[in-house]
Amino acid sequence: MASDAGSTIPLHARNLTVSFADRAALRSISFQLQSGTLTGIIGPNGAGKSTLLRALLGLLPLDAGNVKAFGLPVAKNRQRIAYVPQKQTVDWDFPVTVLDVVLMGRYGRSNSRLWRLLRRPGETDRLAAEQALAQLGMSDFKDRHIRQLSGGQQQRVFLARALCQEADILLLDEPLTGVDVATEEIIFSLIDKLTAAGKTLLLVSHDLSILDRLHQVMLLNRRIIAIGPPEQAATKNNLRQTYGGRLALLDQAEAALTKMK
Ligand code: ADP
Ligand code: MG
Repeated sequence: MASDAGSTIPLHARNLTVSFADRAALRSISFQLQSGTLTGIIGPNGAGKSTLLRALLGLLPLDAGNVKAFGLPVAKNRQRIAYVPQKQTVDWDFPVTVLDVVLMGRYGRSNSRLWRLLRRPGETDRLAAEQALAQLGMSDFKDRHIRQLSGGQQQRVFLARALCQEADILLLDEPLTGVDVATEEIIFSLIDKLTAAGKTLLLVSHDLSILDRLHQVMLLNRRIIAIGPPEQAATKNNLRQTYGGRLALLDQAEAALTKMK
């Protein structure tokens, strides 16, 4: 179907349905993302947030539905999407430096698999990687072994890797979970810079305190409970449906939304 090829909609999911062993993990998920916006997927553990990102990327078989990136099937536009999976614990034995890890972001930039395998990083790649590390405040660590870093520092390195891919869409799975305050600040200022530059960001969080930072929120619990600007979508009733009435969380959401006004 070529009807929306060349579309300016960065990401368009239609009717995504995913199941594991006959149990529906996601049911009929449809939504669009606009350029220059930050969308948050919020929901409790097990809601299918990580599954949704993986489904969007074509990493999981779909029971139904399709995903287009700029009007093309995601597989054809994969290099325009950067992905930082949820908490990666680094226990690699081989000696890989921080700079090596970030340079991996450059390999995904071509659509040709052969080219990706054959090419060596050049000066432009190295420069892009170093700039990405600088943006995340990690320049001083570039020659360190990745294993020598703290969790928050490793998270910054994975974000730098995504950044130097120079993708138009970034999918970030719980980038703020378990990071220190300094890392959190750096991540938020990076997000602001990227959205200002017209990039499209989709971020997963189980923490409602980020509501006031979002342009759009998706409340997810295997299906979309609500999607829209936080002040419209994150109503008490919708949050209760999403979280099943865990009231401490509702107070947290209210505090975040009050902060916004
Ligand atoms: P969240 O990221 O919102 O915490 P997940 O997307 O990780 O939730 O998981 C949603 C549901 O799907 C959970 O019940 C989980 O156990 C199940 N699930 C996720 N991945 C798999 C898989 N590869 N095989 C079987 N079940 C899975
Ligand atoms: Mg998850």
